[in-house]
Amino acid sequence: MSTMNTVGRPTTPNQVSSKPATLTGARGLLQDEHLIFESDGWGKTGVDLPEPATNGSDLGDLVRKDPIGLPGLSEPEAMRHYVRLSQKNHAIDLAIYPLGSCTMKHNPRLNEKMARLPGFSDIHPLQPMSTVQGALELMDQLSHWLTTLTGMPAVALSPKAGAHGELCGLMAIRAAHEAAGQGDVRKKVLVPTSAHGTNPATAAFVGYSVVEVAQTDDGRVDVADLASKLGPDVAAIMVTNPNTCGLFERDILEISRLTHEAGAYFYCDGANFNAIVGRVRPGDLGVDAMHINLHKTFSTPHGGGGPGAGPVVLSAALAPFAPAPWVVSDANGYRLVEREEDEAAQAFGRLCAFQGQMGMYVRALSYMMSHGSDGLRQVAEDAVLNANYIKARLSDLMSPAFPEGPCMHEALFDDEWLKGTDITTLDFAKAMIDEGFHPMTMYFPLVVHGAMLIEPTETESKQELDRFIEAMRLLAEAAKAGDVERFKGAPFHAPMRRLDETRAARSPVLRWSAPEGSNIAAE
Ligand SMILES: *Cc1c(COP(=O)(O)O)cnc(C)c1O
Repeated sequence: MSTMNTVGRPTTPNQVSSKPATLTGARGLLQDEHLIFESDGWGKTGVDLPEPATNGSDLGDLVRKDPIGLPGLSEPEAMRHYVRLSQKNHAIDLAIYPLGSCTMKHNPRLNEKMARLPGFSDIHPLQPMSTVQGALELMDQLSHWLTTLTGMPAVALSPKAGAHGELCGLMAIRAAHEAAGQGDVRKKVLVPTSAHGTNPATAAFVGYSVVEVAQTDDGRVDVADLASKLGPDVAAIMVTNPNTCGLFERDILEISRLTHEAGAYFYCDGANFNAIVGRVRPGDLGVDAMHINLHKTFSTPHGGGGPGAGPVVLSAALAPFAPAPWVVSDANGYRLVEREEDEAAQAFGRLCAFQGQMGMYVRALSYMMSHGSDGLRQVAEDAVLNANYIKARLSDLMSPAFPEGPCMHEALFDDEWLKGTDITTLDFAKAMIDEGFHPMTMYFPLVVHGAMLIEPTETESKQELDRFIEAMRLLAEAAKAGDVERFKGAPFHAPMRRLDETRAARSPVLRWSAPEGSNIAAE
């Protein structure tokens, strides 16, 4: 049985006997943190500005009459609030982040240094082109790396995430079918069962109906099923390669041949490009459009760490429909083609107001140039080696979903090995938090029961992998030995206990309101 101390922090019996609960709820130097609105800083300000000389306001009746309702904190109070909050979260800068399908690799600090060069960080998208030649050249070079690595002739840089890239790719595909007079007949998109949720969501968003393609027992696209569903009403297929089971689609050439034969386009979800970068060019596989998550393969921060970027490479057939803007150069230097006329006459439109995530372009190109082509190839090889090491060292205790042969960059286990223990994948993941490890991706892909998808990436050393594997082995042994409470009640040691995720999703509380009887609002 676990018990709660007076401030609601968990203690285990073992802790009670060996370590008394603290009197304040703090743990070592880690203090509890309240909402900033619960601070007693109302009516205070951290800065002392002179009263502005105003000439009245143009806002008329819209002028604010009540206080703005923001808490006031001094600079050290504000600083401490946010630093303490950051200590409650996991980050790739703290430890391994084995979240499958997310490629949480180290973000080299060199990238950050480059992105902060004033010539990149202090420019504005509306500056005259003549004053941002360096930034445009950088975009041109990044485009060159991306088209070279993928073997594709064109790239649309502006999409701001993988899912946004999918939208870009499918809109280019729709534009191409419309230009060929096929817009009204090709209304279906085929998506394998193991696909990331964004794939069917994107297809539906663009107005297509989604048809599922079955999977074989060894975790690949069922080519016979695909062939039977291809036809004159199909606009595109969306296939992830390597797929979300961490496996290379062995029949990829046949898949693209069949797709093209049916007059459809091959959209490849390139989120897993890290496993093949520098080794396989998607253009050689017959891919027509593929997004590249710069924030996965090319190390720019993501998740809580910052915005992503999802450039889309396009085949010759789709290139004319790419969204504006893109960079061109001539004797007068570099410029952005912005309008859907002249060179951009067939562009399907644009995806964002300006040119996309400049900071991510700088980070990604910095990463590419510091690795070089040989280094990027090594990235793929090491990522795959690391995942296979994990698979090999855990397969005697846990059940690999596809035991046959090696995996690519992620090792996938199912929950078969937990049968009879009363412990679920979720329980196991929560116990990992207590042992100091961020859980792997759980219950995805959906085709694998109780899936545990582990992606170490190439940036983890053997020592770090061994530490992770040791913890996983200890937990697996504890699970098999019937130590159920360790899992059911976990996490015991995290700042928050197990949350009611369903309630949080169904009825989120997104607004703070002052407690009854408080005079905060009146201040
Ligand atoms: C991450 C991911 C996406 C979506 O990318 P975002 O940048 O998060 O929008 C799509 N497909 C797969 C397989 C992914 O892993």
